[in-house]
Amino acid sequence: MKKILFSLILLFLALGCKQSINNPNKDKKKLPRIAIAGLAIESSTFSPALTHEEAFHVRVGDDVFSYYPFLSKDSLNRKRADWIPTLRGHALPGGTVTREAYESLVTQSLEMLKKNAPYDGLFFDIHGAMSVVGLDDPEGDFIIRVREVIGKKTIISTSMDLHGNVSRRLAENTDLITCYRMAPHEDALESKKRAVDNLLDRIESGKGKPAFKAWIPIPILLPGEKTSTRIEPGKSLYAKVEPASNKKGIIDAAIWIGYAWADEPRNHAVVMVTGDDKENVTSTAEDLANSFWEARSDFEFVAPTAPLDKSLDMAIASKKHPFIISDMGDNPTAGGAGDVTWTITEILARPEFKFKTGPSLIYASIPGPEFVTKAIEVGIGGRIEAYAGAAIDNRFAPPVKLSGTIEAIEYGDKYAEIEVVVKVGSTFVIVTKKRKPYHKEIDFTRLGLNPRKTDIVVVKIGYLVPELYNIRADWIMAQTPGGVDQDLERLGYKRIMRPMFPLDKNMEDPDLKAELIPSSEDI
Ligand SMILES: [Zn+2]
Repeated sequence: MKKILFSLILLFLALGCKQSINNPNKDKKKLPRIAIAGLAIESSTFSPALTHEEAFHVRVGDDVFSYYPFLSKDSLNRKRADWIPTLRGHALPGGTVTREAYESLVTQSLEMLKKNAPYDGLFFDIHGAMSVVGLDDPEGDFIIRVREVIGKKTIISTSMDLHGNVSRRLAENTDLITCYRMAPHEDALESKKRAVDNLLDRIESGKGKPAFKAWIPIPILLPGEKTSTRIEPGKSLYAKVEPASNKKGIIDAAIWIGYAWADEPRNHAVVMVTGDDKENVTSTAEDLANSFWEARSDFEFVAPTAPLDKSLDMAIASKKHPFIISDMGDNPTAGGAGDVTWTITEILARPEFKFKTGPSLIYASIPGPEFVTKAIEVGIGGRIEAYAGAAIDNRFAPPVKLSGTIEAIEYGDKYAEIEVVVKVGSTFVIVTKKRKPYHKEIDFTRLGLNPRKTDIVVVKIGYLVPELYNIRADWIMAQTPGGVDQDLERLGYKRIMRPMFPLDKNMEDPDLKAELIPSSEDI
């Protein structure tokens, strides 16, 4: 009997040994399988522009890693999981996304997800303010369709822009969620990394989905130009977020300003807190929501604002140069069509800029593909007279006639493709083949322009991004018309939740009690 037992043990050991020779990873912990997907755009329903699929500059497979330095080949996080990147697209803000583009991008993402399922986690990297023709709450629709493919068990960690919207169904279907804590978004990558870190931590620790998700819709709708975190009250409000997220039993806390240029019930501010401690999750969310509500009347434009004619008067009279004027209504980085000609038409009509001896002014920018073609024919140094702009948004002014000398032609920009500088009187007008935001000093210097040595720089932008902010000697935000008009009362909302601050004067205090959203497994 003993002998038989001994032989059996030997056999066992031999088999075990053989197995470990064949499978050297047997004792290694199995890495979690985590997929990556997401579409990012903010799109204005108040702009006649439409956004097509190519605007998303889609990356698929391993190319998706290039968005995330914290997932680079040698990074710690890359080694913590078996990553399965699918499709990610990121578009400049613009008009409503066509239904065809949305369906195509979502279908491609779902097919890629299907191929490698199941997953322990999904990093869902979205902006949160996409508008799609004939479809409400696209991100909510997208995540439901993702769930249909990957199932309810997978932990989804969603990363968003604080100008995105968190609908109830997005809150229901995601497990972890966070958004930027700075505007301008200097912490974009840090926020995305936090979404990934939280996901990995929850999977590795075995804690899984958070026990509680508190969601509080707040009836406030403000433009980004009033809610920069560089100045009060945005600064103090957002300063509360990180300490809140460090409290016991809390995974993450986040405040969304929401997106003001779409007319859907989901467009408003939101607070969400996730974690395992019911009391802390609930009270922290309510504290943040109440802090926002209490500060609501203190949100003002981040810089002085004035009508355009007054802004130009001030810039011309000023001794501080460059005097930057934000042409806010057609800001392409907020969702404007980018080709509104109203502002440049007004500038060129001013007598001060008619002659070369006038104050130097850079206007950035106006798309005009036909103008660009003609400029190439004429060449640098040649005279041109041709029209640009207002191909998409001609509600405020028709295409503008530009008669002047071609100063520069540059090829190869990712967005503009071809850029032309034409000097009209004392104004340097940048005309592009396709629309492009001018946010960096190099955007100007590569065209031979020096914004630091120019009297007046007019840019289609809202609040200044850090580079332009640092260049400015003075700055005013001009209230110009366009798809992202900052005067929200002029937009004429029909479908947002009412009452809404500040549109409805003297509204009563809302109920800001946290709602605990059921786990994604229970819906
Ligand atoms: Zn944003």
